[in-house]
Amino acid sequence: MLLLITVFVFFSSVWLALFLSKQITRPVEALADAMNEIARGRYGRRVTAMATGEMGDLVHSFNHMAGDLESSRHVAESAKAQLTAANLAVEERRRELETIIETIPSGVVTLDSAGVVLQANRAFAALMGIKKNAPQPGARIENLLPAECAEDLAGTIRRGSRMGAASTEVEFHAHGRTVHLAITSARLELGRGQVGSVLVVEDTTELLRAQRQLAWKEVAQQVAHEIKNPLTPIALSAERIGRHLDRAQPDSPNIIRKCSEVILGCVGTLRTLVDQFSALAQFPAPQPRACDINQIVEAALALFSGRIEEITVQRNLTPELPPVMADAESIRRALANLIDNAAEAMQGSLLRVLGLRTALSEDGAAIEVTVSDTGSGLTDEIRERLFLPFYSTKRRGTGLGLSIAAKIVQEHGGSISAEPNEPKGARFLVRLPLMEASAEPASAAAAEKSAKGIA
Ligand code: ADP
Repeated sequence: MLLLITVFVFFSSVWLALFLSKQITRPVEALADAMNEIARGRYGRRVTAMATGEMGDLVHSFNHMAGDLESSRHVAESAKAQLTAANLAVEERRRELETIIETIPSGVVTLDSAGVVLQANRAFAALMGIKKNAPQPGARIENLLPAECAEDLAGTIRRGSRMGAASTEVEFHAHGRTVHLAITSARLELGRGQVGSVLVVEDTTELLRAQRQLAWKEVAQQVAHEIKNPLTPIALSAERIGRHLDRAQPDSPNIIRKCSEVILGCVGTLRTLVDQFSALAQFPAPQPRACDINQIVEAALALFSGRIEEITVQRNLTPELPPVMADAESIRRALANLIDNAAEAMQGSLLRVLGLRTALSEDGAAIEVTVSDTGSGLTDEIRERLFLPFYSTKRRGTGLGLSIAAKIVQEHGGSISAEPNEPKGARFLVRLPLMEASAEPASAAAAEKSAKGIA
């Protein structure tokens, strides 16, 4: 009996021990399995084993944590997908831009603040005559262009950084031909306070050649026309003189005198034409010096003393303007042409006011001289052709005054434009760069540099 009771107690306690241990080990094993699964990336795994008391709390907390982990994982995955899509779009846009830059026929090159090439396209390499696809990043821009253009280019890059954008035209000889390049430099913000430049280089050789041919054709036509005009009265007068010499009538001496006056007048016109034409063709090279623009304006006006008595001159000359780098004689001649035209345009006007104004330009980089009048004003057609050589609406005009003035201003790196005046008449605006801005070389290319500035 005692043995039976002992055996029963023994088995009961073993069963109880096993039962109790299962209550703890089963959930712990399930927890361990679930952890391994989650570590392998199966975030949907949960512990389903029954557990009570503290073990039950542990299982519940674990399942909760696994749920949080799964939803965070979803959020991270969708953010990653969005980021990847955005990156792809950026990459596609970058490739598109690169293709555009590589395809455009103009040379494009970006530089850092020290003038070192950061990136350049194939067209730029072709323009520079570089054999390989594009110049290696790290090359200096001045080493890629011929030495004679380096200084001009450096000045343009400086001006572009200061003013946002600046242009120049350079000319050099390469492979036995003259190459003309139009270079525009624009300021480029590189980030982190760094400022570089982007250059757009265009080959204008063919364009210039075509323009010159056209200009010469026009000049030749105009010269022929201007010479033909006085030839007809000369021929007619000579014929008349001949007739009267044969017939010798009583009024013949008078008629012959009149005819000779006509011939002399026409010869005078021809001489003026030839003088002006040769002046246009052989301008002495300007000798720029630091000048006071107000003095030049006064000197130009002094040329007309005694001739414009019936005109009211309104001076508005800003005192103590910074000096301009100019050939005083040439600028005086250009301004005199403008004053002469203004005086002539006011001949038929009741109100005759000649305005002369000097001021610093709004951007502070140039001096502006304005010559205004209350004359006949400018029609659209006149405004379009004003600065062309031999364009004149006057009976005895040569049409060279304004083209000479424009040429002089161009040679100084400046610009000239015309606009309507208030209340009537015309206003001519001459812009001359200040000494610092015009301290770049006065090379032959500089003469053509500001052709675009002419209205
Ligand atoms: P020209 O005086 O010999 O005609 P310019 O080149 O000086 O030659 O002028 C060209 C033309 O421009 C003039 O014929 C005239 O029609 C016009 N023009 C120039 N200045 C003025 C002005 N101040 N007012 C009106 N028209 C002008």
